[in-house]
Amino acid sequence: MSNDDIILLMTTEKRLCEYRFDEPLNRHTSFKIGGCAKLFIKPKSVDGLICALEKFQYAKVLAKGTNILAPDEGVDVVVNTLGLNRYHIEGELIVAEAGVLLSTLCKAAARNGLSGLEFAYGIPGTVGGAVYMNAGAYEGEICDVVEYVEVYDRRRMVKLERSQMEFSYRSSILKKTDWVVLRVALRLKPDDSQLINSRMELIMSKRIQTQPLDLPSAGSVFKRPRKDFYVGRAIEELGLKGLRVGDAQVSTKHAGFIVNLGNAKASDVRKLIRIIQQEVYRNYQVQLEPEVEIW
Ligand SMILES: Cc1cc2nc3c(=O)[nH]c(=O)nc-3n(C[C@H](O)[C@H](O)[C@H](O)COP(=O)(O)OP(=O)(O)OC[C@H]3O[C@@H](n4cnc5c(N)ncnc54)[C@H](O)[C@@H]3O)c2cc1C
Repeated sequence: MSNDDIILLMTTEKRLCEYRFDEPLNRHTSFKIGGCAKLFIKPKSVDGLICALEKFQYAKVLAKGTNILAPDEGVDVVVNTLGLNRYHIEGELIVAEAGVLLSTLCKAAARNGLSGLEFAYGIPGTVGGAVYMNAGAYEGEICDVVEYVEVYDRRRMVKLERSQMEFSYRSSILKKTDWVVLRVALRLKPDDSQLINSRMELIMSKRIQTQPLDLPSAGSVFKRPRKDFYVGRAIEELGLKGLRVGDAQVSTKHAGFIVNLGNAKASDVRKLIRIIQQEVYRNYQVQLEPEVEIW
């Protein structure tokens, strides 16, 4: 960070953002991996987020950090969206700021007899992170329920309808741009609260049975390359379950996950990813692409 940046920072209103210097990113990622952010900015509102992004155009956006492998050497400036945590319900529409957790929205939807978000119960990230990568599980994807998204295109606020979001499997227009999600509106359908809750509980119990939720990870490491190719099963068939590089390990419970056994480095995870990609390619001629965002 240059002196100019520090002067800019001092002139930014404290009312809008909290600032920390040399903030360890392993405290902010579900992998519990990552060096320090020289400057860690936590805006308290949408205005604060825009203000931070105007001043630090090259800042990286971090939400709940459940799909990020942050580098061991750290990064310059991070803007964290978790302070954007307000939402409201207008009939069948939930309008949420980017940093609201999916679990909060799932529970609010169930309480209000609104169905459509059950699939997302147990995805540990925010709605902004979910829209960025079109998060999905159990036959559902966030794009199924998105009505519109308000983004900051680094110049102004723009409202994008679902059709303008270029959603596809684990992707959206946000992956091709540097735009930042400010708010998301989700269109749900009325249903019985008890039924919604029981569908959510069923999904949660499936996750508990199949995923290594007791160890730090970032969920599935790879995208499914095609509908009929199950990455976890393929990795398991190659005998790679339990393979370790340092403290990074192919989960013994679900071979599609890499877990941190304690002191894994980002470089360990990257090496393990490369080994898995090479082995899968050698045996199945399939190129695996990471789902995890490697910073
Ligand atoms: C145990 C476990 C299970 C998981 N299960 C699933 C699953 O079933 N399905 C699934 O899809 N994912 C799953 N994930 C991955 C992850 O939870 C999702 O991808 C989630 O949507 C990421 O949200 P986040 O808030 O943590 O984003 P982060 O990890 O903080 O960020 C991810 C990316 O999104 C970008 N981003 C975040 N917020 C914004 C914003 N407001 N505007 C623009 N860009 C933004 C970041 O810059 C980064 O590139 C799982 C992860 C774990 C640890």
